[in-house]
Amino acid sequence: MTDLYRKQRLKMVETQIRARGIEDRRLMKAMETVPRHLFVDEAIISQAYNDSPLPIDEHQTISQPYIVALMTEALELTGKEKVLEIGTGSGYQAAILAMLADHVFSIERIPALATKARRLLEGLNLFNVAIRVADGTYGWRDEAPFDGIIVTAGAPALPEPLTAQLAVGGRLVVPVGGRFTQTLMKYTRLSEDPNDLKKENLGGCRFVDLIGDHGWQAF
Ligand code: SAM
Repeated sequence: MTDLYRKQRLKMVETQIRARGIEDRRLMKAMETVPRHLFVDEAIISQAYNDSPLPIDEHQTISQPYIVALMTEALELTGKEKVLEIGTGSGYQAAILAMLADHVFSIERIPALATKARRLLEGLNLFNVAIRVADGTYGWRDEAPFDGIIVTAGAPALPEPLTAQLAVGGRLVVPVGGRFTQTLMKYTRLSEDPNDLKKENLGGCRFVDLIGDHGWQAF
């Protein structure tokens, strides 16, 4: 059974990640290693390595593997970084980050998801991830600055507190746009001025809402 999933992971990386132009070898190794099937519900475990997002509890989603790869590669991680994730969800993205950075701080607004993700990450011996339940649109001020910030929910605009918590030279990846489709944006902070940002468009995407004071209002 374990071997079956390993084969599926290798195939996922080959056909969905490498074939689409992702080049970061450490990232591909991490995606070949992290057991994505543990982060989805038993009932849909056979779909865990499909080329698509999947539903998780609380009407949220685990992102498509390629989107996880695209966003992670944009952070340009070497292993020494302190990274902030907004939107822990299943914990899968946090597990990938934990293998590629020094320390990961992840914020989830729904307590049940945070609890489940924490348990999963501990079960995988990934102890360099701290998860907090809060409105992540404020960031995690006590732990700032971060070398990388990844927002895994769609925002109406770049949440202003986050750029202030990005280190000079740091990378921030966030889907920005409407409630149904967004543009994946990469911002690199160029100087002490938090508004001095290099902007890059990484393409179209579709995420669940970032809900919070610097995001969308809850329905
Ligand atoms: N990174 C996740 C994974 O690997 O499974 C997928 C994240 S899911 C697409 C988006 C998550 O963002 C949801 O779990 C949602 O509850 C969370 N979220 C939305 N608004 C938030 C906020 N203001 N602060 C923290 N989490 C938020």
